Amino acid sequence: MNRFMSFRVVGLLFMFTASSFVIFSQSHDKILSVSPEKRSALEYLEKSETIEKYGRISDAIWSYAELGLEEFRSASLLAGTLEDAGFNVETGLAGMPTCFVATYGSGKPVIGILVEYDALPMISQQGRIPHREPVIEGAPGHGCGHNMMGTASISAAIAVKQAMEKHRIKGTIRVFGSPAEENLISRPFMIRAGLFDDVDAVIDNHSSSGFSTAYGVSGSALISTIFTFKGVTAHSGGSPWSGRSALDAVEIMNVATNYLREHLHYSHRMHYVILEGGHVPNVVPDKASVWYYVRNSDERIEEMQERVVNCARAAALATGTELDEVRVIGAIHQRHSNKALAELFQRNIELVGMPEWDEEEQDFARQLQENLGTQVRGMPEKVDSLRPPGLFVGGGSSDVGDVTLITPTATIRFPGVVPGAISHHWSTVSSTYGSAAWKGLNAGARAIAASAIDLFTIPEELEKARKEFDEYSEMNPYRSFLPEDAVPFLELNRQQMDKYRPMLREHYPD
Ligand SMILES: [Zn+2]
Repeated sequence: MNRFMSFRVVGLLFMFTASSFVIFSQSHDKILSVSPEKRSALEYLEKSETIEKYGRISDAIWSYAELGLEEFRSASLLAGTLEDAGFNVETGLAGMPTCFVATYGSGKPVIGILVEYDALPMISQQGRIPHREPVIEGAPGHGCGHNMMGTASISAAIAVKQAMEKHRIKGTIRVFGSPAEENLISRPFMIRAGLFDDVDAVIDNHSSSGFSTAYGVSGSALISTIFTFKGVTAHSGGSPWSGRSALDAVEIMNVATNYLREHLHYSHRMHYVILEGGHVPNVVPDKASVWYYVRNSDERIEEMQERVVNCARAAALATGTELDEVRVIGAIHQRHSNKALAELFQRNIELVGMPEWDEEEQDFARQLQENLGTQVRGMPEKVDSLRPPGLFVGGGSSDVGDVTLITPTATIRFPGVVPGAISHHWSTVSSTYGSAAWKGLNAGARAIAASAIDLFTIPEELEKARKEFDEYSEMNPYRSFLPEDAVPFLELNRQQMDKYRPMLREHYPD
């Protein structure tokens, strides 16, 4: 134990020296110098009333469980909190009512923080219950922790704003309220609308079971498309020969794409759900639609999409139906995370350290792990080391990818989710609520705020990130995969939310 350790404030130990604070990270006993500017931001976030205030906001968004482009309550709670804290808020941007941008300060540098707040369908679950027990059967739930992420971002931004005011830091902090991340929709449209044009660097974040960051290329590029076929109705028993089944076209398309899989590069992923396939067996369906996610590397995605579209064309030809609409609702790049930024984030992750989990939080984690049949190891004790890029073999996607190609960007993954909880599953919904989530998002907010302050106050850090980005983007200029005529699909989740919102409302906090 270090002899300077005298008192403890949420996982960190402090001692004041003449010009700066010295912090001892519990996990590493590492001495790090913290500037007064950074100290101001961290002090605000470390207060127990701050942790509770934002914890309650996160839990409220968790209970709203709003799907993409339907996040009216969630977006207004986040944007309203920023407005109350003195940010200038613009809403309804880039053609999306739930998209917002909140700004404080003026001039350069402009540092951006990304905010997400949408939920996922079908995975409703009660908070902090270690077995499956939905709030409302079939309703949406926060199975990716976007309730924690939105809240981590705004609390960090407010902490940074306070430090900017107090220490007269020059520049602009800008928060990007980005709807429908789960549907991979908003960022390409926000970029197209010019919202990121003057941003010098972006801090992204994601909830996780660990505390980490990474650099390089990761995740898959993705094109999300709804294919709709038009046929002719007929009596399925009396005169099926006069009908043309749109459902047959969907099925033949799916057979064709499943044969196609063998001849796609191993880095691909492809999955679909049938949205519409007729109403009763005795009427030949004249309308059917199928929703595809086509994933691959940036280099291979467009060719793969073309081959999938050809399967749809062939299915229409084979069935005598029409391929009525090919609607691209999202098209995004892989992540290209900035190394200089990731190195800076890593230092701040180590500075903040892993939160201290209490017995109840450890018990819940162990119970959940046992019920999931995964290794029973409780909550994590240490932050992770900086992750270099691995071999690309395919995987998930985020529209943050497009942001990484227009400005230096990297992601802070903060803890709170139980290790072993399955993403997009009730177990993650269960663990993104309550005290461990509050502590995790607060740790994330501290790493975000500390990194933003560094970018404002240490010009060399921003220069390093910009130089790396400029060199890369000169060789790889950004080009959106979105078709020119694509517009945000505002009605995508309307029916579901119209159905579940009134039921979920009964469970909102007071
Ligand atoms: Zn997510």
